[in-house]
Amino acid sequence: MTLGAVPRGFSWSGYRALIQAFLDRGYAVKLFGDLDPTKSHLVLRHDIDFSLRAAVDIARIEADMGVRANYYVLLQTEFYNLCSPEDWARVVEIAELGHDVGLHFDASRYDADLEMLEAAVARECSVLAAIMGREVTTVSFHRPAQSLLGLARPLAGRLHAYQPRFFSEIAYVADSRGLFRYGHPLDHEAFAAAKAMQLLTHPIWWPQAEAEDKMSLLDDLLQQRQDLLLSEAIANCKPYAEYRGRRASVNHG
Ligand SMILES: [Zn+2]
Repeated sequence: MTLGAVPRGFSWSGYRALIQAFLDRGYAVKLFGDLDPTKSHLVLRHDIDFSLRAAVDIARIEADMGVRANYYVLLQTEFYNLCSPEDWARVVEIAELGHDVGLHFDASRYDADLEMLEAAVARECSVLAAIMGREVTTVSFHRPAQSLLGLARPLAGRLHAYQPRFFSEIAYVADSRGLFRYGHPLDHEAFAAAKAMQLLTHPIWWPQAEAEDKMSLLDDLLQQRQDLLLSEAIANCKPYAEYRGRRASVNHG
């Protein structure tokens, strides 16, 4: 197959084809801790900004292809809740598929002072480790503070995705808003030379079938969330269930 023939859709099959293209090019997929910047190594990083459900889908595809990726989950977010039974099961499944689950750290929630950020990273990592029952050894930043970008040393004793050896000293390609806005990874000169690359993708943008309007994926997510909250409210409050029942019969009667 020529490179031009690799499908480039943002879908499950498109993701599979993208990873397969790297494997066909001779890349080995590595976790951050095993990356050798001088080799044909690919690190797959996923920042979970919105949907753990979408992340599980991608995690299963990767496991099926025999590759392991670095997943990063937020603690401070309204979009999912690692202590809820469903989301907890999702994050544990991702880890049990062989992937590394680390902390997606939102520095904008804290003062930008590096010492305080480091203490906050340490604290959030131990909370995440306690929730998962697994060690947290790597970190990525959600909205990086200037003081964190390019920080060469580990942070709170953990590797982080913006260390120069993972970020500026090797190729770095990321999706954004459902597109490779700054160039497709297969068009990158590093791919042509089979040089080390960090590829960041956000699972929310990679649904089963490509979305015509990417922003509708967020509508879908919000609707799922609302449905879940509604069914939980009904399950946990009998008078509310009755109230909803009365309202439904008025609306339909
Ligand atoms: Zn993020």
